[in-house]
Amino acid sequence: MLTVRHDRKYSKIGIMGGTFDPIHYGHLVAAEGARHHFSLDKVIFVPAARPPHKTQRVISDPEHRLQMTSLAIASNSRFEVSDLEVERAGLSYTIDTVRAVSELYSGAKIYFITGADAVLEILTWHKVGELLKMAVFIAATRPGYRLESLAGNFRGVFDKVRGNIATMEVPALAISSTDIRRRVREGRPIKYLLPEPVEKYIISTGLYR
Ligand code: NAP
Repeated sequence: MLTVRHDRKYSKIGIMGGTFDPIHYGHLVAAEGARHHFSLDKVIFVPAARPPHKTQRVISDPEHRLQMTSLAIASNSRFEVSDLEVERAGLSYTIDTVRAVSELYSGAKIYFITGADAVLEILTWHKVGELLKMAVFIAATRPGYRLESLAGNFRGVFDKVRGNIATMEVPALAISSTDIRRRVREGRPIKYLLPEPVEKYIISTGLYR
């Protein structure tokens, strides 16, 4: 999906990284907020096919997550979805994704947007030194969440990389994928927590039952 040639110069590209199991309005509000606040030309949603830290956990098939993400972003011309991590063999390391997007949009500044909980573990990510030089990280936080206080034990180390990490409070992130999956399993409504086409997709495929 990212092979389309573009004829205009992009200067700031956002990558929205996540498992998106399923994608919901919290993710969409976070991406749009980051696009606006950081004046991004576009935001590319990249569902993580095989998240390196979730090898023991059951997650939905990447094709389902890619499909739901496509449905969710369809109405926003500044949003795109990419199958970069789904097509790539092996674990979905963010460094490989950032490198691929940087090559495609050479000269553009790259912003990687994801959840604050994930960013707090960034020091354990593959090739973190190189990664932090290649992209600015935007940590989307839930209401009342303070990245600094949660940095906890590795506060000292975290402070060294703090300059490359911006935080953005997103009240809509009170919605969570975990809660949506639980609601489906328990037969409770998920309406208004995610875009209707995604809700219909979940119902028709029987996901999370
Ligand atoms: P996660 O552990 O499932 O999520 C952590 C928290 O962040 C959850 O509360 C989650 O809420 C939220 N979140 C996740 N993605 C978000 C987004 N784009 N915007 C706002 N909130 C978000 O984390 P994950 O989704 O698996 O991983 C996040 C990203 O980090 C992925 O792109 C993954 O590939 C990358 N990562 C890379 C490495 C590595 O390169 N070694 C290691 C770990 C993670 P919801 O459950 O509601 O989404």
